[in-house]
Amino acid sequence: MARILITSAIPYINGIKHLGNLIGSQLPADLYARYQRGRGNEVLFLCATDEHGTPAELAAAKAGKPVAEYCADMYAIQADIANRFGLSFDHFGRSSSEQNKRLTQHFAGKLDDAGLIREVSEKQVYSNADGRFLPDRYIEGTCPNCGYDRARGDQCENCTKQLDPTDLIEPRSAISGSTDLEVRETKHLYLRQSAMKDKLDAWIDSKTDWPVLTTSIAKKWLHDGDGLQDRGITRDLDWGVPVKKGDQDWPGMEGKVFYVWFDAPIEYIACAKEWADANGRADADWERWWRTDKGADDVRYVQFMGKDNVPFHTLSFPATILGTNTHNEETGSPERWKLVDYIKSFNYLNYDGGQFSTSQGRGVFMDQALDILPADYWRWWLLSHAPESSDSEFTWENFQQSVNKDLADVLGNFVSRITKFCRSKFGEAVPDGGQFGPREQALIEELTKRVRAYEGHMEAMEVRKSAQELRAIWVAGNEYLQAAAPWSTFKEDPEQAAAQVRLGLNLIRLYAVLSAPFIPDTSARMLSAMNTLDTSWPDDVATALNALPSGHDFTVPDVLFAKITDEQREEWQEKFAGTRD
Ligand SMILES: [Zn+2]
Repeated sequence: MARILITSAIPYINGIKHLGNLIGSQLPADLYARYQRGRGNEVLFLCATDEHGTPAELAAAKAGKPVAEYCADMYAIQADIANRFGLSFDHFGRSSSEQNKRLTQHFAGKLDDAGLIREVSEKQVYSNADGRFLPDRYIEGTCPNCGYDRARGDQCENCTKQLDPTDLIEPRSAISGSTDLEVRETKHLYLRQSAMKDKLDAWIDSKTDWPVLTTSIAKKWLHDGDGLQDRGITRDLDWGVPVKKGDQDWPGMEGKVFYVWFDAPIEYIACAKEWADANGRADADWERWWRTDKGADDVRYVQFMGKDNVPFHTLSFPATILGTNTHNEETGSPERWKLVDYIKSFNYLNYDGGQFSTSQGRGVFMDQALDILPADYWRWWLLSHAPESSDSEFTWENFQQSVNKDLADVLGNFVSRITKFCRSKFGEAVPDGGQFGPREQALIEELTKRVRAYEGHMEAMEVRKSAQELRAIWVAGNEYLQAAAPWSTFKEDPEQAAAQVRLGLNLIRLYAVLSAPFIPDTSARMLSAMNTLDTSWPDDVATALNALPSGHDFTVPDVLFAKITDEQREEWQEKFAGTRD
């Protein structure tokens, strides 16, 4: 039994995510986790909300709530939607947890002991009216280049010129609009990523099985221009992990917090401790997933994310881990943390001729999707159109076609026909009599080939290819049923028809097992209709097609998938064109 640690990129707390976010990490991670569990492997699948940083503070202010309360409320909403989408996290944690606070402070202390943190004095804009330092992008003013009057302190959106806040003409706070700003001196901690450059370079070079897309992004950041830069890991904010060196105060850093990019990936680890704590487990139970000195040596760790997150996961987070591990090696401390083994990254999903837009409410958001159709409709479409080798696009026409053909006509129709025919001629039990002939043997051979191919694609995290193979497996059953035509056979040879129906009913169980990673709710309904708890993987297809013996009771399920009508399609197209209420 293999042990597989899976993390999905953690969604930011300020709002409900759209379907493009879902297919960019959480959903394919869930597919992989469900598949690996189905194969009998030991899986720990973790995700969390990313809760720190200025955007959370501003969203809370807009909602008229204290930021901690806002995050708690939004966490509950996101957790509920994830659950309704069937995302099978072993734990859905929070980067604001006590566990993450302590672990973030622990890593910072280790990195400082290793000489990998330096203090930098910098000048930053302070807003007297807001009583706080302002991050660059929360300062607005007139662009010195093009005259656009809402340029931000980091960049002008109109002419794309990179700016410093002090370049802006008539700068003002984007929070309050106040022009009572001054430049103050403040001290921050920087992680010396530049000192880690050669180690990171060698580590990336060792990843010969990674896609070129992933390694080339990392290499670009390592070598372009002046190479990998040191990065600030602290901020002058109230909301965040207080800056401490382990459990000790950090002189000069009072009142500051770690910058969100530093603490967010550490939540992948802290989430495992949250999982252990929430389930009354010992520390050893989560450490055996994350500490290679405590049993995590045989763990394969896979991360899922959108391509924009690749630099963080190939460089910044590994710098935290590698720096800590190197220091521990040098000091003789046994503490060693697990580095990622494989990164699966995705391109973007576009929406109906443009982009999904959270700010403009353009596209379908996760809660809205579930208001109009069950999760499996969305899971199937999104996964079978995952933006793997290039960006992909959601259109309502394509969605309608895919649901109606693949789910209703192919899978749904197969299940409906065979169960109803059996009920009418043999009753609601697997019929006895007859034997499998050449046609059945041919089907078993084809399915064996296809199931092995499906396993290969799933193992390789080739999401689209897996979906295509699964669909071909469904189609093979339909074609068999069409050719065998038990409704005709029954007239001349009821025994032969019984064997054909017995095969068909067993195919429903087989399909439920194979399809569970894609459409878990439907899979559960199929198993329930077949009155079985047997979810064993078809290592041998012939054996699997005898799992339900003659005489085994079943029930005819309700329609598995309703077709999407043209009227529905047009109504939804209109509804999601922009500006959600
Ligand atoms: Zn400009």
